[in-house]
Amino acid sequence: MKFSVLTIFPEMVNAFAQYGIIRRAVESGRIAVDAIDIRDFAEGRHRVTDDRPYGGGSGMVMKPEPLAKAIESARRENPESPTILLTPQGRPFDQQTAESLARCKGLVFVCGRYEGIDERICESYIDEEISIGDYVLTGGELAAMVIIDAVTRLVPGTLGNEASAASDTFSDDLLEHAHYTRPPIFENNAIPEVLLSGNHSAIEAWRLESSLIRTFLKRPDLMETRRLDHREKEILKKWMRHLETLIGG
Ligand code: SAM
Repeated sequence: MKFSVLTIFPEMVNAFAQYGIIRRAVESGRIAVDAIDIRDFAEGRHRVTDDRPYGGGSGMVMKPEPLAKAIESARRENPESPTILLTPQGRPFDQQTAESLARCKGLVFVCGRYEGIDERICESYIDEEISIGDYVLTGGELAAMVIIDAVTRLVPGTLGNEASAASDTFSDDLLEHAHYTRPPIFENNAIPEVLLSGNHSAIEAWRLESSLIRTFLKRPDLMETRRLDHREKEILKKWMRHLETLIGG
């Protein structure tokens, strides 16, 4: 999968591609991260990419001409890939969106700066607008990197262990179970005994219970939309009985 990132700060994106799983994915050829400098498509000695807003007001706006040329060039290099604008006004990014983007051949990202980009680019060149949350960043680069990171984990072979993406938080509307590693006792706090039992079905049952309880306590909103199966209902009923005993006592 090829990610083309249109930005006035390509160094930010190049640095990001040099670490951890993203770096390994690039080296193995599973993904390519191409940071494209919008200034390379700007006219004049100073290669200006922004200008004052029509109608006055504070801040600058990214000019349409360099953006249009940069997008056209990226599309030639990365065909059949949707062009995504990072903007706080876009559709909120979530794991489901990551999964659907992971099915694309490639993605072209447009990173805004200043007050954002000229609206005519949004109308004629952008296929989708995505926000990474209800807060305002100084630029779209971090948002593009967040999306590339989340999508790359879903590209087959990048994690080395496919099972870990399948059980991740949000992959089935539940938060992932708790994790422990050595030592078995840390500051007088022992890990749940079942994890040392070697009994795989008991461990799997404990993990489901841990997942359900964490979701219930930390993100009850996720439970509202989830259809619980028989096993999950039984776990929650067991907890209800515990709580009733506690309250009753
Ligand atoms: N004036 C714009 C507005 O109010 O909608 C905000 C511009 S912001 C200072 C500059 C750039 O940062 C945006 O063009 C966008 O590319 C990026 N950006 C800021 N917040 C973002 C978010 N939550 N998600 C994705 N991109 C964001």
